Amino acid sequence: RGSLAEVDPDVAALIRYEHERQIRKLILIPSESYAPAAVREALGSVFQNLYAEGYPHERTRTQTEAELLDYEDQLGFYRRYSDQRYYKGVEYADIVEALARRRCAEAFATPEIPPERIFVNVQPLSGAPANNAVYEALLQPGDTVMGMSLVHGGHLTHGSPVNRSGKHYRIVWYTVDPQTERLDYDQIRELARQHRPKMIIAGYTSYPWAPDWKRFREIADEVGAYLLADIAHTAGMVIAGAYPNPLGYAHVITFTTHKTIMGPRGACILTTDPDLAKKIDRAVFPGEQGGPHVNVFAALAVAFKLARTPQFRELQHQIVRNAQAMARRLAERGLRIPYGGTNTHLLLVDCKSVRGPDGTPLMGDPAARVLDLAGIVVNRNTIPGDTGAGAASGIRLGTPWITQRGFREPEVEALADIIADVLWACKPHRYYVGRDLVYRTKVEFDVLEEAKLRVAELAARAGADVELPRSGYP
Ligand code: PLP
Repeated sequence: RGSLAEVDPDVAALIRYEHERQIRKLILIPSESYAPAAVREALGSVFQNLYAEGYPHERTRTQTEAELLDYEDQLGFYRRYSDQRYYKGVEYADIVEALARRRCAEAFATPEIPPERIFVNVQPLSGAPANNAVYEALLQPGDTVMGMSLVHGGHLTHGSPVNRSGKHYRIVWYTVDPQTERLDYDQIRELARQHRPKMIIAGYTSYPWAPDWKRFREIADEVGAYLLADIAHTAGMVIAGAYPNPLGYAHVITFTTHKTIMGPRGACILTTDPDLAKKIDRAVFPGEQGGPHVNVFAALAVAFKLARTPQFRELQHQIVRNAQAMARRLAERGLRIPYGGTNTHLLLVDCKSVRGPDGTPLMGDPAARVLDLAGIVVNRNTIPGDTGAGAASGIRLGTPWITQRGFREPEVEALADIIADVLWACKPHRYYVGRDLVYRTKVEFDVLEEAKLRVAELAARAGADVELPRSGYP
């Protein structure tokens, strides 16, 4: 009994402060978005209280939404055949998981591939465990996997030596062409022919162009590899038709559900191959995980329902237009845009465009810190040419969250101007203290103060789901 504010006013206050931060600042982290209140309500529901190891009955895979919501039929069936799960008490959990799977399949279905042909697993706790489960299902330790170099935009789980993927498999990196900074399919094909990987991964964390799924599948077929499409970032855009759908090309698709889908934190795995589907289900549970998060299924069902609305579709297209407007404006302001632009939700800025009086280049981390002081949240990121994650010379900007708050091209350009003003006001320099080379960045005080006001004004005009009190935050 008792509200959070009564039981634990400290945690309640922390939540309020975080909420206020999300409204006061302009968040440009491409992997973040704002889950709608309905999604959060389902996530905080009593479905969180139960265990449901296993999967719903096989027959629910091909049932329509109306059939799944026919309670008399579902509960009657459950009473007779509730042998698929390890625990009893899952009659509603079964329905809600099957509903999330069905809505997901409908969201990704194409005219050629109807929802009935798509096998969906909604249990992975997040994107990294989803990828690990796919490796487990499709590969043997020591097999060769080809993924995009981390420095050029791949993800940790695509074979980083510090990740399980990099420890258990032999990793071959493909990179972007150093001249064009774009994927070079001839080079990827050559590498694949040379190394004969068992799996090729496409889909990225910071490469801003959509891959050519057909070319990737042709390369995979030529060398007998599986093609894994990791669309963690772009799944919402795929649903909306703002990014090419890998369904029909990739053997397996993974994606997170809390980025452009704007759902709960989680992930899904899709395939149209029934044998792979069986292996994947077993790899997720019992291979990788125990009890799934049933409250997440409820929130996912809501998110996939919202993802099929015209508003969601328009939002995803606007996210791309906003990223393109941001890239255009920043380039006009003299900042180099790595990879030459974007056709997705994210873009990068080469901070080395800015140099101090002694020629010291601005790096990603100080740039991100100064922007945060101005109220603009971004992350440092490697770009082609960097030597490693510790020496990131770029920042990564994404437009999902600001687009949700109603930003269109004029607001995006105003924001790009603030970013450019702040970055150009940075004065990186290096000097020795004893034998240590110290790297410092000063920023022109007036420009930063002015930027804070401009951000506050843009943020105040932008939409937010609640009005919070204006003061009283630490
Ligand atoms: N795959 C890609 C391409 C990603 O960008 C990410 C996260 O950003 C993941 C997988 C992992 O997702 P999670 O952080 O939910 O484990």
